[in-house]
Amino acid sequence: MATTLPMPAETLLRDEITRVALSLFERGLTHGSTGNISARLEDGGWLMTPTGSSLGNLDPAAISKLDAKGRHISGDRPTKEAFLHTIMYDCRPASGAVVHLHSTYSVAVSCLKGIDHANCLPPITAYYAMRIGRLPLVSYFPPGDPELADAVGKLASNHHAVLLANHGPVVAGTDLSAATDAIEELEETARLFLMLHGRELSILSPAQVAELQRRFGN
Ligand SMILES: [Zn+2]
Repeated sequence: MATTLPMPAETLLRDEITRVALSLFERGLTHGSTGNISARLEDGGWLMTPTGSSLGNLDPAAISKLDAKGRHISGDRPTKEAFLHTIMYDCRPASGAVVHLHSTYSVAVSCLKGIDHANCLPPITAYYAMRIGRLPLVSYFPPGDPELADAVGKLASNHHAVLLANHGPVVAGTDLSAATDAIEELEETARLFLMLHGRELSILSPAQVAELQRRFGN
């Protein structure tokens, strides 16, 4: 009688990255060949979306594989923004996945003058407070500039989510599902924030946010 062998964890993770990437792309959360995803492998290495690839059209077998030191070992070459991912993992050893998008409403907020650079969005909803909390703005640097990695590195130990000025969000999570949920919450909150522009806002109080952090904080 034929037996079915369990799928190796790496194969499952490649399939999960491909599925999540397609879902993000199809819902317009990133466009063209923008946005990238990485996830930690059990051996300490990473899978990362390749350079120039569209999240809407990934080949699971071509996803880049990096070793525990961040060296490319197989698959297509990793995204040019790989350093955004590796600096997050360096600063946050418990993180299992990182998602970076050029999602429209978050990018729009990152272009606003006068936002609080220590915390770009107010706690409009409980889910935003739970899944993101504080969101610092990282000063603008051209894509690929090593100073961008340094700037992210200064914030990443204390923040699992950062917003790159005139660029987009980078969010780490314990696994791919957590990182994706959090970046989607950020995007929806940015959308609400812009929708409410010019109106008087009722936001969660510091005590209400502290209570959520105590109960559900990451
Ligand atoms: Zn980017």
